[in-house]
Amino acid sequence: MDRVAQRIGLFGGTFDPPHYGHLLLAQTAAEQLQLDQVLWIPAGLNPLKQGQQITSVAKRLRLVGAAISDNPMFQLSLVDTERPAPHYTIDTLNIIQAQYPTAELFFLMGGDSLASFARWRAPAEILSVAQLGVMRRPDDAIALDVLTNFLPTLPDRLNWIDAPLIEISATDLRNRTANGNATRYFMPDLVCDLIDTFGLYQRP
Ligand code: ATP
Repeated sequence: MDRVAQRIGLFGGTFDPPHYGHLLLAQTAAEQLQLDQVLWIPAGLNPLKQGQQITSVAKRLRLVGAAISDNPMFQLSLVDTERPAPHYTIDTLNIIQAQYPTAELFFLMGGDSLASFARWRAPAEILSVAQLGVMRRPDDAIALDVLTNFLPTLPDRLNWIDAPLIEISATDLRNRTANGNATRYFMPDLVCDLIDTFGLYQRP
């Protein structure tokens, strides 16, 4: 009997910290794209975010682990934290495809990431390895016609994830914490508790 190919979502991010915007993207994408699992891939060192103070890999792995702990479809992947930088998405995808040779891959991202997609390393090759699942973000400014001129295969490989626009960002949550404002209801309680335990995002 033919086995239907596994459908795997890959969700990369700094996740500093993970929040409900991330969880909604992963969950709605899993439903709409009929994914069997979503691999959450915390970034080791993001080439586009150099210069920003980023929480250690060990602590971000704990935060993401806590955020996804109640969903058996979500799994933590160490593919970008166990190997040396740089961690270009195309390399990550090829490693995962080698681990799951018959799987169909879907790379999940917010609209702000799609807006900068043409500047990523090997975007056309990325589209040949994986389809994209994109959830819009407020103010994401996607010029789809410009992107499509540059990447003609994009429309065939792009799946819009139909989800509410969620105006939550990790930057805002770090600022809220530094300013002593509540972050509860923006992310799972387990993540809030770990941020407290680790003393993250306090003003120096
Ligand atoms: P920061 O504010 O530090 O840049 P972030 O909240 O954008 O962080 P990332 O870890 O950089 O979080 O994001 C990982 C992925 O999740 C990216 O593709 C990003 O576009 C997407 N994403 C993050 N927040 C949202 C949201 N509220 N709605 C839709 N997509 C989101």
